[in-house]
Amino acid sequence: MDEPMYNNFNPTRCNVCFSRATEHRLMLVGQNLRYCKGCRLIGYCGEQHQKEDWKKHKEFCRAVTKILTMKNIQHILEVREECGPIIGSSRRDLECAISLAECLMIAILQRKLYQHEYTLLRFPNICRVCFEYDSSKLKPCEDCYQSFYCSDEHRIHDSADHARWCEMYRINLLLDADYPTRLETLGFPKLTPFELSRFPKHSFELVNLAYKTNIPFRPESIKNFNDLKFVSNYSHIGTILYALYLTNMNQELQNSLVVYVVGAEDEIVYFDYNTCSVIFTYIPQLQDVIIYFIGPSLGSIKDEIELKYEGTRSIKMHYYKGLFHSLEPVEHMERPQIIVSYNCGFHEHIESNKDTWSSTLVRLIRYVNIPIVFTSYTRAEACQDCATIYSISKRTTKKKDLVFVKRAADNPFKDYKPLRNTNYIDDYDELYYSNGYFSLVISRVP
Ligand SMILES: [Zn+2]
Ligand SMILES: [Zn+2]
Ligand SMILES: [Zn+2]
Ligand SMILES: [Zn+2]
Repeated sequence: MDEPMYNNFNPTRCNVCFSRATEHRLMLVGQNLRYCKGCRLIGYCGEQHQKEDWKKHKEFCRAVTKILTMKNIQHILEVREECGPIIGSSRRDLECAISLAECLMIAILQRKLYQHEYTLLRFPNICRVCFEYDSSKLKPCEDCYQSFYCSDEHRIHDSADHARWCEMYRINLLLDADYPTRLETLGFPKLTPFELSRFPKHSFELVNLAYKTNIPFRPESIKNFNDLKFVSNYSHIGTILYALYLTNMNQELQNSLVVYVVGAEDEIVYFDYNTCSVIFTYIPQLQDVIIYFIGPSLGSIKDEIELKYEGTRSIKMHYYKGLFHSLEPVEHMERPQIIVSYNCGFHEHIESNKDTWSSTLVRLIRYVNIPIVFTSYTRAEACQDCATIYSISKRTTKKKDLVFVKRAADNPFKDYKPLRNTNYIDDYDELYYSNGYFSLVISRVP
């Protein structure tokens, strides 16, 4: 069976209703759900939608039921039955229980878990304080409907901590996975010298100033939610512009710019005619931009693409599927003026045989005075990414200093669609963003 399609699946709402509702989607929030009696993990508005979803759900549900019977337990979270009850235990225990449940499910299903199945196991509805899982005892937070409490006492106990995340949960619940409407402009938005005198503080300002819109930070209507996705599409370009601004290169550049996007994967979709056009909006002296996308996991590769703006300006994009350090001497590429890696994960495989970043980073830090920008999902990852590039520079070059202009800083040009952190131990970023953290280093000869 192919992976069943859901629209931004979320276990705290009826997903059948959500995928059908368009305009009245926001009214679905807070609907009373009945939970599946088999797995106890998925909720529906009623019997009808449960029946309709059964074809997609039954394989998963039967596997969970099998584990419950096998272990003689009432809920999948009690899967470590030898370790005592999960209610009242620690985040680490919860993480262990969920990991074990995932392993057992994979063994029974004899395949990888589908994305929505993974979500069901990772984010069961539980009291945030004590992990009570009996859905009849749980009441949701009435702002986000994604955090549950077994009692008023636990809700109050958690209120200060939850306040940091409530708005992100609310947006996470109400966003759909559809692509926002594309603009039909040709050319690029123009700004006056006065408007250009101050660089935008964040993506919302960048988009609002360029397109003369008034998209709010806090989405209330369906239109606002679509606009938030639209703004988020400018995260990748915005991050480059932000780096150019921080290094004063937006002033110093002549009429051309060469960008390397290293470790590129599917982010090439965010470099479309409209998003790219704001490069000319914010750096009006530019005429020609060349962007090289390099990475072993590049998605569908096209040949060279050229976007033309008003006859005279152009953005050329080249794609090299492969590792940067094995490509570079062979290909005829222009020297970069800025190097970017999105959601880089430098640290991820370090000191394992899957590590390919070390060799690439050694090459990248040889470019003297060229800013290297990298983003990370969470602060913990951002700190490790910084540590990785720093230790590689210390190990490999005595003649250069790696200077941090920004280190694991909040990225005002992040993608503003909140995602739930699957790592329960990491409580610094309970939810996170793509391009959430921003770091900028430059190799200097002292
Ligand atoms: Zn429904
Ligand atoms: Zn079920
Ligand atoms: Zn509780
Ligand atoms: Zn809330």
